[in-house]
Amino acid sequence: MKFKDLGLCKEILSSISNIGYKEPTEIQKKAIPNILIGRDILGCAQTGTGKTGSFIIPLIEILNTGKSKSRMPRSLVLTPTRELAMQVSEEFNKINKNLNLQMALLIGGTSFVEQENKLSKGVDVLIATPGRLLDHIERGKVLIKDIKLLVIDEADRMLDMGFIPDIIKINRLLPRIRQTLFFSATLSNEIRNIGKDLLINPKEIYISPYSSISENINSIFIKTNSKKKMDNLKKLLCIEPIKSGVIFCNKKADIDKLSRFLKKNNFNTVSLHGDMDQNLRISSLERFKNKSAEMLIASDVAARGIDIDGLSHVFNYDVPNNPEDYVHRIGRTGRAGKNGTAYTLFDDNDNKTIILIEQLIKKKVNKTTFDKIISSQNYLNQKSNQVKEKTNIKTKSVLLPEENYLNFRESGKIPDFLNTK
Ligand code: AMP
Repeated sequence: MKFKDLGLCKEILSSISNIGYKEPTEIQKKAIPNILIGRDILGCAQTGTGKTGSFIIPLIEILNTGKSKSRMPRSLVLTPTRELAMQVSEEFNKINKNLNLQMALLIGGTSFVEQENKLSKGVDVLIATPGRLLDHIERGKVLIKDIKLLVIDEADRMLDMGFIPDIIKINRLLPRIRQTLFFSATLSNEIRNIGKDLLINPKEIYISPYSSISENINSIFIKTNSKKKMDNLKKLLCIEPIKSGVIFCNKKADIDKLSRFLKKNNFNTVSLHGDMDQNLRISSLERFKNKSAEMLIASDVAARGIDIDGLSHVFNYDVPNNPEDYVHRIGRTGRAGKNGTAYTLFDDNDNKTIILIEQLIKKKVNKTTFDKIISSQNYLNQKSNQVKEKTNIKTKSVLLPEENYLNFRESGKIPDFLNTK
């Protein structure tokens, strides 16, 4: 099946071809025709499957005829996190490139005034996190009784984050007659029950199982002494051929600590967690996406939905508390047919959580020790050329402080790479 077989208008087909999508992904093949004939959808699919396109493409096709009134949008996409909302809005902008549909992104941490101005001019599509949408509704800045199409993305995450009461509140304000698309990475009984209240005779679409891990990801668990964790991570970052990598931490305090430590060691990093100011969150993500920062140190805010081109490595500084988050975290790499590497640092206290992960992914994880990784001759031989290459081009991130030229000026110690004897 090709995109042109889906009955999409020429403007959308042209945008799709400009983005470089050759043919619809499995979820797009199954969802788009059903959405276009007006059916409700109960979709079980993970990010990385082309899920966003599967609802944004038909949504634009449907809304392309007609116009919205001031403060009365015609469609609403609800996402659990600001980052995911931004990503959905980016996909919207790409597909809408040759059309003139108006969109407002309502997320917390950014200016109300700008969002209100946009709403008063009339928007076709609202992409929002539940809290900020309710704020606007309560201030009387937006009316959602004209919504024809509702999308709930990552319903399971909404549940985890405690947003279901907000969704129920929003649902009461929506018209009963509308089309609803409900996506979740799992279809637990709880999720199905929430779906029942929102959907009418939905078409169920089930893509890959939630617990599956892409075969392109080489995932290794490294046993490490918790006291040496930071140093070991630093050594790992030095020997690995990283193009772009995310380091996940369980605690926000560790993100800050690790960020200071790696910066001090000349690594080019940015951070992302829920307590940061929204402008900082946006700028961290932008710097990481445009490759001006090599590493992102993040909480699970970045574990889902975030799609970064060419992300070669994921490092779990901690074993995630929730086994499902492990699947999501390492799923940031090995996307779109590319290979990826995931390292998870662990100690004896993590054994129970690792068993839960193994139960979820239905196989044993690959374990080794940090010393084995470092001392493995083959490993070092294989990697040394890459390290040399990095050192030769004086990449800041691989230089230890004492070898760094700037430090050399202060310390007077000649760094190895300058010592030609
Ligand atoms: P998602 O599941 O929406 O997070 O999408 C994951 C990635 O797949 C994103 O980088 C999309 O740009 C990309 N993508 C979406 N649809 C297609 C397609 N039909 N062909 C190739 N890549 C796609």
